Amino acid sequence: MSEFKDDEREDYREVIPEDTGKKAGEDRKEPEKDFEDVCFICRRPESKAGKMIQMPNHICVCADCMNKTMAAVNQFDYYGMLNNPDQEQNPEEAAKRGGFPQFSFVNLADLQGDGGIPNRQKVKKKKENAAPAIDIKNIPAPHKIKASLDEYVVGQEHAKKVISVAVYNHYKRVATNTMDQIEIEKSNMLMIGPTGSGKTYLVKTLARLLDVPLAIADATSLTEAGYIGDDIESVVSKLLAAADNDVEKAERGIIFIDEIDKIAKKKETRSRDVSGESVQQGMLKLLEGAEIEVPVGANSKNAMVPLTTVNTRNILFICGGAFPDLEDIIKERLTKTASIGFNSELKDKYDNDPDILSKVTVEDIRKFGMIPEFIGRLPIIYTLQGLTKEMMVKILSEPKNAILKQYQKLLELDEVKLDFTEGALEAIAEKAMEKDTGARALRSIIEEFMLDIMYEIPKDDNIGTVTITREYIEGTGGPIIGMRG
Ligand code: ADP
Repeated sequence: MSEFKDDEREDYREVIPEDTGKKAGEDRKEPEKDFEDVCFICRRPESKAGKMIQMPNHICVCADCMNKTMAAVNQFDYYGMLNNPDQEQNPEEAAKRGGFPQFSFVNLADLQGDGGIPNRQKVKKKKENAAPAIDIKNIPAPHKIKASLDEYVVGQEHAKKVISVAVYNHYKRVATNTMDQIEIEKSNMLMIGPTGSGKTYLVKTLARLLDVPLAIADATSLTEAGYIGDDIESVVSKLLAAADNDVEKAERGIIFIDEIDKIAKKKETRSRDVSGESVQQGMLKLLEGAEIEVPVGANSKNAMVPLTTVNTRNILFICGGAFPDLEDIIKERLTKTASIGFNSELKDKYDNDPDILSKVTVEDIRKFGMIPEFIGRLPIIYTLQGLTKEMMVKILSEPKNAILKQYQKLLELDEVKLDFTEGALEAIAEKAMEKDTGARALRSIIEEFMLDIMYEIPKDDNIGTVTITREYIEGTGGPIIGMRG
């Protein structure tokens, strides 16, 4: 109880005068004290601790210890006996009911300043029997969804078509809630495509067009509950955060889980596969539709965070991945079929097929390491093509927010007109193709050579136009500069 060290305490032991030999506490009524009182709690004498408070049974306590004791007592409300507001207004009435009349302790609630207990976030409650959040007449028809996607996403015609129809059906299902006896199946999707081919971009664009909340999660960080890593349900709390903690809004959002191929079953299964097969198992109920308890305003469940329930029945799950070795599996299957009978000369036919991925079947994906229950819950499977040089050139200049348009806009603010020759665009695309990271490489290449342009041009007020040429990109020449006037 005392906060003084033992050796210190030794110094303040009761002072027993040599001549009397009396113990402390005896002969207390003598007018002249030969000894001083010692605090019952901290053992300091009166000369050090100040005036003592006398208690029954010859016990005395110093003022400091008394204060501390009272502060500790104050933390308990004793079933409302203390701090009872009635007592101040109506002391007689309060006295009849018990409690301490006219006696007010410090109200701890007043002391909770900014640094006190954190304010909790408000959970928006679900309304009972609320009308469907999406009006069926307001869902754009599939061709309109695709037309909007066309403005941003280059190529990938098949993927855009599939996604438009799937999304249309999904939200029709959400809007109508139930369909008499026919339960419409959920249109969760599995998107397969090389890195940088626009998987994330497609989903982001879609969510923006539909104005629904979107959560993007990475399957590599997920582990079975209880192991280090994010547990699977954290993807739902991400969505809730994206929907500003509005449960109703979150329940018709989209969850995109990237790098889904990284949770394939591990080939070597001597240890527990906590980040592979177990994650697939754990995701089954989410994909199908379940009531999930998620923390509001935090990533993990703990005592301080309020929980709310989100039903994933109407949440659209889109899983995406590059599935790097899937091509070999498809090739192997195709060759096997081809080599039966007289068709064995077809063996090498698929080696240079750029579109081999589109021949994927559920069986191939299962062989890759996804469990059948998991694939079964992603009924719509489609592939994205690897980007060609022509597509890269288009990506540079055609989409609504194309990278080149962004630079042109920036220089326009300096009243300089920026142009690119056809050759320059091709040179950029060729360089990007070498890097093999899809359209992601484009930006880094452009940033590199645009740095000099963006640095030099504003120096000279006379410059009116800048034309980027193939030579400039390849480092064998400079841009063509045109003067004003
Ligand atoms: P991933 O397939 O690896 O998820 P991303 O979707 O992140 O690739 O693509 C990276 C970037 O490349 C996007 O931000 C986008 O600007 C651009 N991009 C990729 N594919 C396309 C495309 N088909 N049309 C337009 N831009 C694209």
